[in-house]
Amino acid sequence: MHLKEKRIFITGATRGIGKAIALKLAEAGGHIAFTYCESDLEAVQATEATLRAFGVKVQSMHVDASDFKATHKVIEDTIEAFGGLDVLINNAGITRDNLLLRMPEADWDTVLNINLKSVFNTVKASIKTFLKQRSGSIINIASIVGISGHAGQTNYAASKAGMIGFTKSIALELGSRNIRANVIAPGFIATAMTDQMDPSTQQAWIQNIPLKRVGLPEDVANCALFLASDASNYITGQVIQVDGGLLT
Ligand code: NAP
Repeated sequence: MHLKEKRIFITGATRGIGKAIALKLAEAGGHIAFTYCESDLEAVQATEATLRAFGVKVQSMHVDASDFKATHKVIEDTIEAFGGLDVLINNAGITRDNLLLRMPEADWDTVLNINLKSVFNTVKASIKTFLKQRSGSIINIASIVGISGHAGQTNYAASKAGMIGFTKSIALELGSRNIRANVIAPGFIATAMTDQMDPSTQQAWIQNIPLKRVGLPEDVANCALFLASDASNYITGQVIQVDGGLLT
């Protein structure tokens, strides 16, 4: 699977799953525009340098994914710099876990805005270019929690379920123009997001995973490579679980 000259935009790629995806896609020959929000300059520059080593074009942009206007601007800049856009990946996401009883309104709003509204923002900003080109692959990183639900994560699960509904809807709207939209639903992946869990909870999760290990960011990146490449040209509107069989 190669991505030679494909132009890729990804949100949140200085660490975790987003970084693994950016590296995998650059290794396959794709030009990468990535965003960051809280990351420091050192992390951004290190990511840029690693990506450039693959001999591809690289662009980094500071933006809060929940900001509609700012997102439009960075997507426009990417399209201008790269001369178009082939793959859009919505990876930026956060958790603010709490039982609903104790969940402040602000934590509901923040999670829905960063995880779900961000997807509306990027797709709205890219859609005209995709329509003109009559091609495009949209890949949204949701979670198995968006399918199963999870106690203590009403905000996060609702945002991820929303991503799935959104993706299936745009797959229906845009399919006739050869624009594809799919979801990757990771299970338990070893990143900063899951590092917050205490070791005994982590062990309990692993016991329930048929493949008996946590996932790695690279496991998700391999699936993203497939969906970004022409090898998945006849696949749209799907939710692909990368979870070691956790949710079956
Ligand atoms: P992570 O290590 O915490 O990384 C989160 C990424 O999101 C960072 O690159 C961060 O960029 C970016 N981000 C956060 N808030 C942002 C904002 N307001 N605007 C723009 N970017 C923002 O988490 P991860 O585990 O790699 O998660 C990546 C995606 O996979 C998320 O959507 C997450 O929900 C999903 N996922 C993860 C797991 C898992 O087990 N790890 C499971 C299922 C789904 P900055 O650092 O620059 O702010």
